Amino acid sequence: MTAAENAAIEFDEDQIRVDLAAAFRLAAKMNFHESVGNHFSATVSPDGKRFLCNPKWRHFSLMKASELLLLDASDLSTMDRPDAPDASAWCIHGAIHARIPTARAVLHCHPPYATAMCGLIDPTIPPIDQATARFWNRTVYDMEIGGPPDDPVEGARVAEAMVGNTVMMMGNHGVTVVGETVAHAFEELYYLERACRNVVLALSSGRPLRVMDDALTASVLRMWARFTDQSLAHFAEQKTLLDLEDSSYRD
Ligand SMILES: [Zn+2]
Repeated sequence: MTAAENAAIEFDEDQIRVDLAAAFRLAAKMNFHESVGNHFSATVSPDGKRFLCNPKWRHFSLMKASELLLLDASDLSTMDRPDAPDASAWCIHGAIHARIPTARAVLHCHPPYATAMCGLIDPTIPPIDQATARFWNRTVYDMEIGGPPDDPVEGARVAEAMVGNTVMMMGNHGVTVVGETVAHAFEELYYLERACRNVVLALSSGRPLRVMDDALTASVLRMWARFTDQSLAHFAEQKTLLDLEDSSYRD
């Protein structure tokens, strides 16, 4: 999405709240979360600076649309608010939204298989199937972790590394994905964890990987490029499944 296209899009804050709350619930169901940490955010202004984020230490599985904090990346008093967000959410997500307005949803978490990969000396995802090929040559491997994520310098560094990209494997840490909608970002996260799961399971056999050659991987990647609408369909179906169980995320 270009900056001009981004600026022309209408923002429906109520709908974005519902979608972001659904993403939290789904992440908990899929075991992508960790304790009451990790953060998802989504912008509600064309410049990216006004964004929704989870309240500090609220469990993902309890999240409701109305509870999401509305923050302004240019408001330096944010961390003095009585309902201030977690400092790392403020530093990392605020920096990415301010730097990349087209990154309208930013999802950061520590899903088990992707995080295990991030603990390897070389966390590169080898293309061994369709899910892994999705991330070939379009993933940032950020091995320059420069300090705690609640440091504004680290937030700016991570935001800069994310420019022009949608997927980041963060060495010794976890993953960050961005998307033009919550649904697009969630689909990246979903497939990233599945890709890493497939690699870890294949490696656990102790047998050599059958890595696809570049031409085959590129053809699979082109297939993925035609499937962007699948993100919207998958997310809509997942919300329907949530609604059958518990629709309180919409509150
Ligand atoms: Zn983290």
